[in-house]
Amino acid sequence: MASRSRVILGVAMVGLLSVLAVMLAAGDREERTTAAGQSADAPASSRRPARGAAIDVHTHVISQALADGLTGGGVPGSTAEDLLERLDEANVDKAVVLSLGYFDLPDDSNMAPENDFTASIVAEAPDRLIGFCGINPGYDSAVSEIDRCLALPEMVGIKLNIVGGSGLDWENAEHAAAISAVLDSAGRHDAPVLMHVAAAPLDDDSLLSALAVIGSHPDVRLVIAHCGGDADYEIEQYLIPAAATPPLISLDNLYTDVSSCLSFYRDAPRSQRELIVWRLRKWGIERVFFGSDYLSIAPAETPREALDTLARYPFTDREIRTILSNDASAWLVGT
Ligand SMILES: [Zn+2]
Repeated sequence: MASRSRVILGVAMVGLLSVLAVMLAAGDREERTTAAGQSADAPASSRRPARGAAIDVHTHVISQALADGLTGGGVPGSTAEDLLERLDEANVDKAVVLSLGYFDLPDDSNMAPENDFTASIVAEAPDRLIGFCGINPGYDSAVSEIDRCLALPEMVGIKLNIVGGSGLDWENAEHAAAISAVLDSAGRHDAPVLMHVAAAPLDDDSLLSALAVIGSHPDVRLVIAHCGGDADYEIEQYLIPAAATPPLISLDNLYTDVSSCLSFYRDAPRSQRELIVWRLRKWGIERVFFGSDYLSIAPAETPREALDTLARYPFTDREIRTILSNDASAWLVGT
């Protein structure tokens, strides 16, 4: 497994992205519009119906122990109160809360406690929060931890973070088999999965390995996080293999969320934002979920900022409504 320095590097990258997000937000404030394209100067009452979302499918919480371990101390862990406040200020009804139990440590001792912590946060507002177990397939205990964690009433799905602090490599056949075993387990549990496939765009061999694993689990309901990856073109790494003859994967049970990816390109030239919209349209707007990647200690964006970011993209009003009204039940429960 990877060293502690890789964990620190991962946290540093998250921090860097959040600094970037703050800088971009400050520079672009005057251009902000609401989700329906109304001016930000419109009276609050007329803006309110346009704001908000049925669900934010990508939020995180962190325990004090993990926060101490990753930062060296002095940074408070997450609270349910803070997360609910962020949802309330954005008029977002629900959130999927993703455990960080997958972070690479010398051993798997963080995985179960971090999942228990996430469950305890969800237990404070079970009508609004939906827990996902953070699983590192690289640990021998991964599948047994899925069984244990999904037995907790608050936990319904599985979050995987394959590269970037998890010590996993798609080109390592043992790692690919371990990831595949975790998806087998998700299938047995009929549990939805959210996977951050890579921390940086995959090279050909890694991508083919990822497509083989995903393609061999067509029945697992899977969110490929961050528009397929943080780089704008990464969703095409799924779209093109799905359109190949014969297709390498089926898109039927694949979904994506717009966290982090849209924020990175929020100040891009309009032509590039149009291209991103075109890709998501080709993917299928009904399979695009709203997400912020909120984490109190290193927020990529708050849910409210993520709503503002979404409004900067040239979607049609109808497409925006489709994304924001989608409760993700097709992914969460398969209906
Ligand atoms: Zn995330």
